[in-house]
Amino acid sequence: MGGTFDPIHHGHLVAASEVQGWFDLDEVVFVPTGQPWQKADRDVSPAEHRYLMTVIATAANPRFTVSRVDIDRAGPTYTIDTLRDLRAQRPDADLYFITGADALTDIFSWRDADEVFALAHFVGCTRPGADMDPATLAKIPHDRVTMVEVPALAISSTDCRERQRAGQPVWYLVPDGVVQYITKHGLYAPDTTGTEPE
Ligand code: ATP
Ligand code: MG
Repeated sequence: MGGTFDPIHHGHLVAASEVQGWFDLDEVVFVPTGQPWQKADRDVSPAEHRYLMTVIATAANPRFTVSRVDIDRAGPTYTIDTLRDLRAQRPDADLYFITGADALTDIFSWRDADEVFALAHFVGCTRPGADMDPATLAKIPHDRVTMVEVPALAISSTDCRERQRAGQPVWYLVPDGVVQYITKHGLYAPDTTGTEPE
């Protein structure tokens, strides 16, 4: 499951857990993006913070792991590179790339779309307010993509960041340990990206 995870929240975790169950996946690998080229319009928190919050959020689930492949690779993250790296580490695995319906909409901005679809089966999670436009849906190869409806959790990282900036609680939107991590490092305070992790 790829994402910026700035911060990871219960929408991500519920979606991952649901897809794990539906497809009976052995492992769900959370892959925080490196420099998110599709979000160049805003400052994204340092990768190490996003990685550590993802580790904290997933630590209790024996089927959840976190991969550094994207944050350790220099330059912008492309899904093709993520899939190649995960494939190299798990040569015998059937790969499912879990993502949100909104991210699938960007699919034609991805490099090497044909190889991307050859390397993994795509699972697009829908959430409230993120319906895909029918024209894009029509172009996606249906044998390589499954759309699934996850329980409606109207949570986004954007909303979590805005709440934190405004001094409103993010408790219960993100795991408790992530709330504490955000506070400890001063993330999402006005005009700052927080202190560096140690
Ligand atoms: P931002 O608001 O910064 O874009 P986000 O909440 O969309 O953050 P991302 O890290 O961009 O979080 O999400 C990774 C993937 O998880 C995306 O493909 C997104 O569509 C999906 N996702 C995010 N929130 C939910 C949710 N509440 N339910 C289902 N899928 C979600
Ligand atoms: Mg998003």
